[in-house]
Amino acid sequence: MNYVIEKADLPNWLDLLCKKARVVVPAENDLGASCFQEFKGQQLFLEARTDFSPRKFLLPAVEKMFFFRKKNFSYRIEPLGSKEPTILFGVRPCDTHALHALDELFIRFLGEDQYYSTRRKNTVLIALLCNKPCSNGFCTSMGTSRPVDHDILFAERETDFVVSPVSEKGKNLLHKNFFKQTKDPLPEQQLNCEKELLTEDIEDNLYNNFNHPVWKQESERCLSCTACTQVCPTCYCYSSDDCFEFGSANSERARFRDSCQLQRFSEIAGGHVFRKSRESRLRQFVLHKLSYYKKHHNLQLCIGCGRCIDTCPVKIDLTEIANTIQREALK
Ligand code: SF4
Ligand code: SF4
Repeated sequence: MNYVIEKADLPNWLDLLCKKARVVVPAENDLGASCFQEFKGQQLFLEARTDFSPRKFLLPAVEKMFFFRKKNFSYRIEPLGSKEPTILFGVRPCDTHALHALDELFIRFLGEDQYYSTRRKNTVLIALLCNKPCSNGFCTSMGTSRPVDHDILFAERETDFVVSPVSEKGKNLLHKNFFKQTKDPLPEQQLNCEKELLTEDIEDNLYNNFNHPVWKQESERCLSCTACTQVCPTCYCYSSDDCFEFGSANSERARFRDSCQLQRFSEIAGGHVFRKSRESRLRQFVLHKLSYYKKHHNLQLCIGCGRCIDTCPVKIDLTEIANTIQREALK
């Protein structure tokens, strides 16, 4: 059974949800960038997918992992981490696929990461269908234009939303003061992304063209600014540091987001850097997203959101790089 909620009632429903959990919504920040924020009555940004994905609410850029406290001649570990119930509202289909990729990695492939897994188990995911393709998005090439793993699905119409609950915990949030039952189906979704990625055998074709000239040619203007990895909803690499306080028995370990676009990312003890050139680092980013991960885990790590293309200050476009190789390989 589907439901409808009037657009005018949406903020009131979100207010009600705030009594149960932290509610996170798409909105614009002070700099005009669209991103996910805690709901405090602000205007929602529902025009398109946001500049930043909701990744940080499951995988913060900086996270304290545990304290270790010295007592006599031993240490006691005190784990940290959040169990706060969270409702993520307005997550676009491509971003639900990104969260699926992170779930697989942090709950299954790597063994259970307690920090990620606890937050994820306490999260309700409310997806919102797209009415139009976004600039530089290519979700239709990646098969990510329909959502996955969501608890409720919203589809926007002119004055209301058609709402389809998927899980029991999702259904329990549809308060009868705001949601009326309807026989209306979810509106048909017809997205025609302008941008296309040729995906046939892409993981093998890119891998087999490790030394193709396009890597060097494109990387010559790369600034190693890391913007692509900061906005990518599936970039998950992190480093960790122990922070000792001199004269104190208390110390802590934290992890923080890292980027394969930095030289120090591949530096090992003794100072050797495996990926010194910008060519090798740009290639690593693209191959990780479109080749290696699929080969190892049978899961595509690029969900076609187009954010890295929107953000790159020198207009490097991973679809153009990959399609250059694909056009030759698929001849
Ligand atoms: S690689 Fe680019 S297009 Fe693919 S998921 Fe990351 S930001 Fe989006
Ligand atoms: S955003 Fe563009 S310039 Fe910056 S590191 Fe990524 S590819 Fe290079």
